[in-house]
Amino acid sequence: MNENLNPKEYSVEYVKGVGPKRAQLLNKLGIYSAMDLVTHYPRGHIDFTDITDISMTDLEEWYVIKAKVTHKYAPYFGRIHVFKLMVSDDTDDVLITFFNSEYNFTQLKLGMTYHFYGKITGTYLRREMNSPIFISESDPAKIKPRYHLTTGISNNILSNCIKSAIDKFSFGDELPAWILDKYKLMPFEAAIRNIHFPASKENYDSAKRSLSFRELFSLQLGLKMLKARNVTYTGCKMENKDMTGFYSSLPFSLTGAQLRSINECINDMQGNTPMNRLLQGDVGSGKTAVAAALCYYAYLNGTQSTLMAPTEILAKQHYNTLCGFLEPLGLKIELLTGSLTAAQKRKARSMIADGLVDVVVGTQALIQKDTEFLNLSLVITDEQHRFGVEQRAALSDKGNNPHILVMSATPIPRTLGMIIYGDLDISILDEMPAGRLPVKTYAVDTSFRERLYKFILKYVNNGFQAYIVCPLIEEGVSEKAYATKYAEDLLNTCLRDVPIGLLHGKMKQAEKDKVMQAFKNNEIKVLVSTTVIEVGVDVPNAVVMIIENAEQFGLSQLHQLRGRVGRGKEQSHCILVTDNKNDYTVQRMEIMKNSSDGFVIANEDLKLRGPGDFFGNRQHGLPTLKIADIYADTPLLSLTNECAEELIKDDPTLSKPENKGIKKMVDELFSKCYSS
Ligand code: ADP
Ligand code: MG
Repeated sequence: MNENLNPKEYSVEYVKGVGPKRAQLLNKLGIYSAMDLVTHYPRGHIDFTDITDISMTDLEEWYVIKAKVTHKYAPYFGRIHVFKLMVSDDTDDVLITFFNSEYNFTQLKLGMTYHFYGKITGTYLRREMNSPIFISESDPAKIKPRYHLTTGISNNILSNCIKSAIDKFSFGDELPAWILDKYKLMPFEAAIRNIHFPASKENYDSAKRSLSFRELFSLQLGLKMLKARNVTYTGCKMENKDMTGFYSSLPFSLTGAQLRSINECINDMQGNTPMNRLLQGDVGSGKTAVAAALCYYAYLNGTQSTLMAPTEILAKQHYNTLCGFLEPLGLKIELLTGSLTAAQKRKARSMIADGLVDVVVGTQALIQKDTEFLNLSLVITDEQHRFGVEQRAALSDKGNNPHILVMSATPIPRTLGMIIYGDLDISILDEMPAGRLPVKTYAVDTSFRERLYKFILKYVNNGFQAYIVCPLIEEGVSEKAYATKYAEDLLNTCLRDVPIGLLHGKMKQAEKDKVMQAFKNNEIKVLVSTTVIEVGVDVPNAVVMIIENAEQFGLSQLHQLRGRVGRGKEQSHCILVTDNKNDYTVQRMEIMKNSSDGFVIANEDLKLRGPGDFFGNRQHGLPTLKIADIYADTPLLSLTNECAEELIKDDPTLSKPENKGIKKMVDELFSKCYSS
């Protein structure tokens, strides 16, 4: 043990048993330092005491067997080196094979007994096991870790390297004693040891809980600090204004939920601190009208606002919508996107800087970079699930502490939302505009295709439009080739004379925009698309959607896709096409047929898929967690929340000396998220 070495700064290469070659392989697993190595947590454990008689094992299943080496065959040194040996217990024997691993072969001594873990293959007359993990009968530690591996690094090698790293260093604890006591946590070093090499199941559970606690605690502290950062004074404190001009000029009356959300925002904006709010509303719930109302409110207060979208096509759409709502009221709106010429951009920017523009709509990239406002007071971003914590932080640094509203159509169960958006207040649009007809949804198999095309044709002949979504199914075929072929095949159907457009991910943004614009203009009648149809695209005249290979999609994704139709007064239809008859698919299709509520669907999705898959980390923009599971660790979450609250209350910036370690933990977790 060495008190002076810092495992975070100690290159993994120098850990005993690693060396330069293995270090390179470990880099592939994201392991660079000794600390990375010991926090490469196992994905499970093998309990070598859970033994099955060989004669009782089934083929293609995983078992621990306890058996004696009865024969070692002569190795075969071909292109691949093959090492075989026979082992047996009282009931039967198994032929064991190792490839390229003389080390394992020599370790296993004739006449000695070992515990082997592996998959039984072969036949019932001759069972086999390839490359098992094994321990000696006399090994006192009978619970062994299993790791995510990479070629060239076996489980045993990795486990030994981790063990030598744990033995070499002493790991200080960033958590103070009072927290360890209060929440009954293992000290960090003990937790690290027991997560890899637990003496018992209880020790393992306790280690896992202790390490998860640290992660969730850091996460929640970080989010709370982000929130606390905004408890600075805003330079844009607003006054009460008469909004009736806006309300009475709208072509519809706002829903109760829209009005409530607008008022919640206005209330925030009248405070001394900047608004920092999430507007969550299912597809079609009318988030844009809320955004427009707030831009108008900012205008009445003599300030500028901006609405940012992730793509050019969405930016243009918002621009048109806002022009429709706000220009008649005398506001000047400007669009700032990549397709403007340099001269146009310069001109737009100088007008924005001079305060001649009231509302700037554009893509995030353009607005965040190099755009100076005269008096920006409100920043709205749309489709926030692509918009992570780090961008939120960057924004709050811009200008005079402007108010921030992020809009999201991703329905997240409320408890999760409170964590994922822990730094935001939340408004929810839980009411659809009146007169909206739920999309009629059906599930059929591919024998219906011809009929579906006729169905589309009928609508097209009546002036309407349709989407056909076709995800990639065959491996080895490119997405582009697949969608292109699909569109070509339509030329052999009743749709041959209909203007068909094609949209796939390999197209440049400008090409995609062109196609989408033509679809919006009703020049393209049927849009064949991979999954790239933009979230948020609003073409109310499109009333039929066909989703091919619907089994490929998660429920929430199906719901988002379906949200592209049903946006006008006409009854819309969504047809899910799948030949897949397994229970999981059938259940999901049923849910889609029966529900049009994004929150209900998200909950069902969670139940069916299990928590881990619900969101990739990418999507919610939070730092990556190594061990905790924000979906499964709910009880722990409320503990860490309580603890984080208590700490932040006493030391909002974590600057007291006794909290230095905790601050470091938080910074480390979030630094990973900023740099990725
Ligand atoms: P989303 O929340 O999915 O972004 P949009 O803002 O695109 O929804 O609105 C969907 C459609 O509903 C638009 O065509 C919009 O004009 C319309 N809309 C919004 N609010 C109302 C309302 N209160 N009554 C009727 N139609 C509305
Ligand atoms: Mg929208």
